[in-house]
Amino acid sequence: MQFADRLKNVETSAIRELFKLLGKPGIISFAGGFPDPALFDAEGIAQASQAVLTHNPGPVLQYGATEGYQPLREGISTFMEGKGSSVRPEGLIVTTGSQQALDLIGKTMISPGDKVIVEAPTFLATIQCFRLYGAHIIGAPIDADGVDVDKLEALIEEHKPKLVYLIPTFGNPSGATLSLARRQRILEIAVRTQTLVVEDDPYGELYFDQAPPPSLLALSDGVPGSRDWLAHCGSFSKILSPGLRVGWLVAPPALLANATMCKQFSDAHTSNLTQAICAHYLTMNRLDATLAVVRRTYAERARVMAESLRRELGDAIAFNQPRGGMFFWARLTGANGKGSHAPDFAKRAIDQGVAFVPGAPFFAHDPDLSTLRLSFATADVAKIEEGIGRLAQAL
Ligand code: PMP
Repeated sequence: MQFADRLKNVETSAIRELFKLLGKPGIISFAGGFPDPALFDAEGIAQASQAVLTHNPGPVLQYGATEGYQPLREGISTFMEGKGSSVRPEGLIVTTGSQQALDLIGKTMISPGDKVIVEAPTFLATIQCFRLYGAHIIGAPIDADGVDVDKLEALIEEHKPKLVYLIPTFGNPSGATLSLARRQRILEIAVRTQTLVVEDDPYGELYFDQAPPPSLLALSDGVPGSRDWLAHCGSFSKILSPGLRVGWLVAPPALLANATMCKQFSDAHTSNLTQAICAHYLTMNRLDATLAVVRRTYAERARVMAESLRRELGDAIAFNQPRGGMFFWARLTGANGKGSHAPDFAKRAIDQGVAFVPGAPFFAHDPDLSTLRLSFATADVAKIEEGIGRLAQAL
């Protein structure tokens, strides 16, 4: 069969191949970006489901508006306001996970050959999705404070990209958080160079002790003109449940209108039932309590993972210390500090019954083969200690 040319731009990710091995019995996985199912507020979601199906079955089981279920748009607007972002319900659309928001941005903004700047490393599915639309992707270096803004500015000047994609808070895979000063500068650069900045923010609520700096969206009110150059993707996946598939997109009106048009041809609308469940859940005043448990649990797991890594692997591994999110980004230091080969290490680790994701696929180009990503979200503390012990064996 002759498939579309655009498929030549992408390949099945190395990570998917690795995930096939995760079914092995007894394996401890630090590989996925999955929230711990034990932390889902199933009781609250069941109550919300019952309520919407009892009191409002017609509309929630019917076709709905492409822009989203209006009570949820209002609920998200209020939720965002609580985080310092003023967004009217009409200023956002509901999407089928934030993954769809990224796809709609790709579809509406990227023509074959267009340049896009991302962090190096960044979320693999975004690289793949933008490549499907023919993007030429350029990586901007990051450090513990997020993307290096001087280098980013120079890359923008040089390449005049169609857009810049950033995960400013608790990045996937980097765990890094962009400093407040850098956030301000990015908004100013967006306005000055008239470059669309896409802020992907699924992890911002998952902080351990201290809230991160305000999102670019929240800060944009203080930088005249920046709202015209900013899109923001949000999601219930990491704070409530990824299976509900509910996210949202905030964007300038023309971009939002085009994204809505494309969504219409794609899935018509996000499930009304799961949207209504989310909307009702937001009115139940359970989210704060749910999030408090998630934050506390992930903070404890991150602490245990850091301690275990230091104890069991010592100088063989260097890693960041995230202040939230779900990931450690690490580097195998190897002999002479040259770095050892993480993909080989991943195979040996699977043999020992533990899995992680090698870092290379998260780079759009020039991958650092000594890097890897470890998720501390899914496994409990005992499994983390056991798994890191197995990693040490593999090493
Ligand atoms: N962006 C980032 C950075 C992610 O890590 C993920 C999920 N792992 C997504 C977007 C997509 O999430 P969802 O579609 O479930 O909202």
